[in-house]
Amino acid sequence: MTTEETETEQLMLDAVDKFLIKIKPQVHQLEADDEYPEEIVEQMKEMGLFGAVIDPQYGGLGLPVSTYAKIVERIACVWMSLTGVFNSHLIMAMSVQRFGTEQQKNKWLPLFASGEIRGALALTEANCGTDLQAVKTTATLDGDSYIINGSKTWITNSLHGSCFALLVKTDPSTNPAHKGMSLFIAPKGEGFVMGNKLKKLGYKGIDTAEFFLENYRLPKENLIGLEEGQGLQHALGALALGRINVAARGIGVASAALNDSIAYSQERKTFGKPICQHQSIQIYLADMATRVEAARLLVQSAATAFDRGERCDMEAGMAKLFATEAAMSNSAEALRIHGAYGYSTEFNVERYYRDAPLLAIGEGTNELQRIIIAKQLIEQNPL
Ligand SMILES: Cc1cc2nc3c(=O)[nH]c(=O)nc-3n(C[C@H](O)[C@H](O)[C@H](O)COP(=O)(O)OP(=O)(O)OC[C@H]3O[C@@H](n4cnc5c(N)ncnc54)[C@H](O)[C@@H]3O)c2cc1C
Repeated sequence: MTTEETETEQLMLDAVDKFLIKIKPQVHQLEADDEYPEEIVEQMKEMGLFGAVIDPQYGGLGLPVSTYAKIVERIACVWMSLTGVFNSHLIMAMSVQRFGTEQQKNKWLPLFASGEIRGALALTEANCGTDLQAVKTTATLDGDSYIINGSKTWITNSLHGSCFALLVKTDPSTNPAHKGMSLFIAPKGEGFVMGNKLKKLGYKGIDTAEFFLENYRLPKENLIGLEEGQGLQHALGALALGRINVAARGIGVASAALNDSIAYSQERKTFGKPICQHQSIQIYLADMATRVEAARLLVQSAATAFDRGERCDMEAGMAKLFATEAAMSNSAEALRIHGAYGYSTEFNVERYYRDAPLLAIGEGTNELQRIIIAKQLIEQNPL
């Protein structure tokens, strides 16, 4: 990083810290109410977070992903749900920034960067999440537009967002199936019918919902890159950023669980001494802290590879796998350290415990990450 980049990063992180000090007292109630945090989203808009990694020539902040990951970690440490509001939005933006035509970038990226149009990535359907080649939503060319029919589910930001990177089949007959898949910029409009907000274990406040496409029309110019058959590659290309996002969220949740445990274990006494003086608690704390540090290094390694423009699916996969498993382990261990209070909704620990499992599922399950890592290992080490 140049001196200028380091200074910009510090200014941004200081601004994020100030913002977090202000919102922290509201989080417990917002989580309990499970309502979309409109006012906070407006503040995030003002800070430029919706354009964090969008190129400045299109109105974004143009931050390196290594800085962006530090922002995501800090915010997730206070309330993971907030990160979802701009993380999925930026995956959509990244698919346009990386694979869109100049005209598409000029039209959409400034609107995404300002937060005027917010949205997400719409891949998953009722019958497929990991196996995206099984997508059933179709887009059929009709004159200058495509007619789209099908449905998507588990789409984060779909109630409050207004535009999506939508994965469909433009040719359902191809073999392999991905050659018939395409990714569209899909703003809400006639034929785009919202379904229900889904009820979730955690990740409260932010909406995750289903929607239906009933003879929904999109102009040809909304096909990302204007080329059919590239949709899966475009979605997966943008998902490298998504995996770094989720990994950074994992560090946030894992470190929140650690920080609360360090504090609580010094206050809580059993058998005449603070529980942090019992060796079994010390072992938990040491393991938790080591996971956080290791996860940070993996995330920074993946983020800097992304920033250098290198292929980084293995690095992003490793970071995602390790950091999100760290969130799972640290939240479970924090619960043990807190005893009954870890099980209480008065404390934040139960929230970390409810939020962490999503991280092992979203942006490609951790089982899938292992497959990606292993494939790369074999590819890089042929006999
Ligand atoms: C809160 C939340 C928010 C979400 N937000 C979005 C969003 O904004 N946009 C979006 O498109 N999707 C979203 N999703 C969906 C998410 O991406 C999928 O749930 C995820 O990709 C897994 O797909 P699935 O649930 O269909 O599980 P499946 O694909 O059915 O997998 C079930 C199990 O089988 C395992 N498995 C599958 N295939 C293999 C294999 N080949 N080898 C080994 N194991 C395998 C999986 O790892 C998993 O353990 C969200 C999900 C949740 C819970």
